[in-house]
Amino acid sequence: MLLINQILNHRTWRYSLSPQKKGYMKIIFRLLLILIASTISLNLFAKEVNVYSYRQPILIDPFFEEFTKSTGIKVNVLHAKKGLLERVLAEGEDTPADLVLTVDIARLNQFVEKDILQPINSDILQMNIPNHLRDSNNKWFALSKRARIVAISKERVKKNSIKRIEDLSDIKWKGKICTRPGSHDYNRSLLASIIAANGEAIAEEWAAGIVANLARKPEGNDRAQAKAIYEGVCDIAVMNTYYFGKMKFNEKNPEQKDWANSIELVFTNQEDRGNHINVAGGGVIKYSKNKDNAIALLEFLTQPKAQVLYSSINYEYPVNPDMQLTDELKSWGEFKEDKLPVEKLAELAPVAQKIIDRVGW
Ligand code: FE
Repeated sequence: MLLINQILNHRTWRYSLSPQKKGYMKIIFRLLLILIASTISLNLFAKEVNVYSYRQPILIDPFFEEFTKSTGIKVNVLHAKKGLLERVLAEGEDTPADLVLTVDIARLNQFVEKDILQPINSDILQMNIPNHLRDSNNKWFALSKRARIVAISKERVKKNSIKRIEDLSDIKWKGKICTRPGSHDYNRSLLASIIAANGEAIAEEWAAGIVANLARKPEGNDRAQAKAIYEGVCDIAVMNTYYFGKMKFNEKNPEQKDWANSIELVFTNQEDRGNHINVAGGGVIKYSKNKDNAIALLEFLTQPKAQVLYSSINYEYPVNPDMQLTDELKSWGEFKEDKLPVEKLAELAPVAQKIIDRVGW
């Protein structure tokens, strides 16, 4: 107020303004001051978190809406199919990114290797995520899981004729198997799990056996393998579980319902180490300017309210051990999972890739 009076009493105004006009000007100045002050404080205290996400908007946006509703923290998302790692590296310390969300341990690990994630000590994350599903240095945390299963033709492959993933290299399946290329992250992680279980030499024999049994050159994505079974091109395929749900209930492309209907899911290795799983997850960026909000969002994503959405929207399995499976996921069969620490898959990925190159998968 002192400032306003000083300005209005400055000699420029002192004689030229009537007392009434000075009164108006005081009010206008006051309003302006209030406006400026409130804009500054809003920017200082606006709670937000910036997410770089490889996960599709249709899946992840409902989580963020829930989060904002319950915390008041606004979530800004940059969605991309690739290049987020390169982007964070290019932005360096100035990056606006607080949190990265991605699928597959291979991609999470790329962020660790470039040293752009920071360790997070959170009792909630420790409690809600089992040991084997988070980084031992606390730099990334799995938020959902998927099993890589064997899909068999309902009509042409007898139930229980495949029990272990190792069975796929049996010569009796010659010309019967379809897969996407071995060097895809999903297959590379699968092979890494076989290396961890059986050693490199046996894993290579297995991969060579798969290649020898292929009905066609590896091509297409996971759903394309189910389609190939439906069309009779092959009888057996390797697939992530959530694709089954996405095909089974696909109203946009109803032909995919037929693909799903032609296959049966086989959870492998139930009598030994359990079925290979992979994860989707996230980590907090080293240069995060909203670290507390990023941690709050990560923690929120492991709470039951959010965990159930992974299953109901995307047919993924929750990581939180307190969660019940949805009826749909239950109907696919409850299974024992391979508890190999997921970070081992990243560690063995380069060895797996060499095998894939050698056997030409
Ligand atoms: Fe996928």
